[in-house]
Amino acid sequence: MYAQPAAANYYSSPSHPTPKQRGYRMCDSCGTIEQPNTRFRLCGGCMTTQYCSQECQKSHWASHKAICQHTSSQISTSKQHAMGTGIDEDVVRGLRKFTSAHSTLLGWAGFQALQLKRMPSNVRQQALLVELNYRPSSDSLRRFSVKATHLVPRTYVTDNDPLVGEDIRRREERCRKTGGIGTAVIIIQCGEISQVMPVEVDSPSKISWDSRDDWLDVLRHFVDTGRTDFKPVSTTSRG
Ligand SMILES: [Zn+2]
Ligand SMILES: [Zn+2]
Repeated sequence: MYAQPAAANYYSSPSHPTPKQRGYRMCDSCGTIEQPNTRFRLCGGCMTTQYCSQECQKSHWASHKAICQHTSSQISTSKQHAMGTGIDEDVVRGLRKFTSAHSTLLGWAGFQALQLKRMPSNVRQQALLVELNYRPSSDSLRRFSVKATHLVPRTYVTDNDPLVGEDIRRREERCRKTGGIGTAVIIIQCGEISQVMPVEVDSPSKISWDSRDDWLDVLRHFVDTGRTDFKPVSTTSRG
């Protein structure tokens, strides 16, 4: 059915080298794509922005500082708020960890939910909101379950938070300059605490993923079982 296996935009299988497709994780400074065998460093302040190297992180600081401090101050505000309402600080930390551990899965879910293969322009109209429930667990990967998902106007994020909106627009411009369709926005929310995950998406001609109507089942399955080995490769099974 497909010229290539429904391989990921995230990675190319080392055993089946395919023409390089742009991954979803780009160094925010130089635009380098994260490869399966490399590990990007996460900015420790905002826990959102990624870099290929310490050099890139250092040289980007001047332009990253504003959005970084903004994001971190939101985290600590929600932390205080959360503690006031009796939710443990663990939720805040856990959510960051969750988003980072499931970034491939969440990016894929956003791609499916926004139907970007059929409707690439949706990337600028809508965002995927993933609502989570928190459950105390000794296994840090199993502390959240998917409560519900919603499609919301992307302006829900970009209008309410000008700095975040600006950051998304900047990523989008860069992505489209290199042939991508733009930046998909995924919002991970647990109670009052939320995190915005911007995902750069490749051009439709390079997207070889299947469109999957059962993406929500797949998302629930991986989140519930705490599995972080999701790879958007398979065409028939749930992986
Ligand atoms: Zn870099
Ligand atoms: Zn940062």
